[in-house]
Amino acid sequence: METSSKREMEERLGVPIIAMYANDHGWRWYLTQETEAGVFNGFVLSPHVLEGEWGAITESDLQELQARPVDDNAARCIQGTCKKCRRTVFIDIGQLTIEQVKEYLYSKKSFECPGRHVELYDMLSAYDWEWTPVWKTMPLSDEEFVKELRSKHPESRIFVLGDELDGLPSLQTLRDLDHVGFGEFESATHCYVRHDSPKGKRRFYVEIPKQPRD
Ligand SMILES: [Zn+2]
Repeated sequence: METSSKREMEERLGVPIIAMYANDHGWRWYLTQETEAGVFNGFVLSPHVLEGEWGAITESDLQELQARPVDDNAARCIQGTCKKCRRTVFIDIGQLTIEQVKEYLYSKKSFECPGRHVELYDMLSAYDWEWTPVWKTMPLSDEEFVKELRSKHPESRIFVLGDELDGLPSLQTLRDLDHVGFGEFESATHCYVRHDSPKGKRRFYVEIPKQPRD
């Protein structure tokens, strides 16, 4: 049976694909929309219907059919908007039910928002949550993240906090840096703008010349 890349299938179907599943019996599902929690519309190719057909399928059906995600990077997430700073967060909820997700968020009694403020109350009430899960491509690895930083700031030096990584010098090798809050630094001539890798493992800094003051 033919196998097509995600992009080829999106062109063929004319709609974005949020996740692809396949099983060992030659079935392949291209999910295009989650109409309610755990229920998907999509297109299916199978040995019985080679030209494919549209239909609806549930997550439990997919599990019963021993289908597994083809794109390992796609994660089932819910989206929240911070009530304080309006930054958006995505939480990877895996196979949890929405009730379990709510319990988890309520149990998180302290957290740092991507808007860089620390709160000492639960995440459930700190964000406006969209309870219909969405499929998101998982965050870049540290290596991919650095590559993207380099392409966005080709003129700048990039540093890493802590041990040197992949030829990036450690920020600690610089002298006379002032901490200016929220993990950002500056010297007499440059600002060091903080970029946390999306997986939250490493912290990177882009060196930007200070604007001359009037
Ligand atoms: Zn916030």
